[in-house]
Amino acid sequence: MLDTMIETINKVKPPRLTALKELQQEESGDPLQILIGTILSARTRDENTTIAVRKLFTKYKTVEQLAKANTKEIQKLIKSTGFYHVKAKRIKDVANMLIEKHAGRVPDNIDELLSLPGVGRKTANCVLVYAFNRPAVPVDTHVHRISNRLGLVETKTPEHTELELTSKIDKKYWTQINDTFVMFGQNICKPVGPLCEPCLLKRSCKYYRQLKSSSLA
Ligand code: SF4
Repeated sequence: MLDTMIETINKVKPPRLTALKELQQEESGDPLQILIGTILSARTRDENTTIAVRKLFTKYKTVEQLAKANTKEIQKLIKSTGFYHVKAKRIKDVANMLIEKHAGRVPDNIDELLSLPGVGRKTANCVLVYAFNRPAVPVDTHVHRISNRLGLVETKTPEHTELELTSKIDKKYWTQINDTFVMFGQNICKPVGPLCEPCLLKRSCKYYRQLKSSSLA
């Protein structure tokens, strides 16, 4: 399935890297940049995340510098991502807690990641996958939507989708799921107006079958 998604994307147009994959490759998976990048990526386009992470880490290179940074200065640097008041506060809170409780390091396990201020399952799982290459399934809006459209799961919440996907998909594929689904969701299975006709998964897709049967009715 993951290979078929990539084949479809390449058939339609060669994709650009997702923001987290780009960070993983450029910064060799620096856990702090991945964690902050994931916080910044909420409700914004990938391009905005990449720009904001670059600006922020050009000015503040360490967790100590981030913890001491002026909040208004952080807001200015990350403004392109939207919700920058909330995100700037979260970045400062997280940096402070990393120093106080984790010796300035980003933890590499789900429980400690979830104990950081404002860090939920998606962010924690992204850090595990993109920073530590640990098997986890970060479920964002793309993963949740596409899994339901395909009929892989029938769920109402990302948390339930994560549970279902981890029980149904072999662990060896987990680290690839988020990146592939995000690329597929940005380029093919878009939130509005999915490109079903060139999609190589349409024969096995629940959404497509329903679409066709309702157009025949
Ligand atoms: S057929 Fe359409 S809805 Fe189904 S996975 Fe492909 S693009 Fe998405």
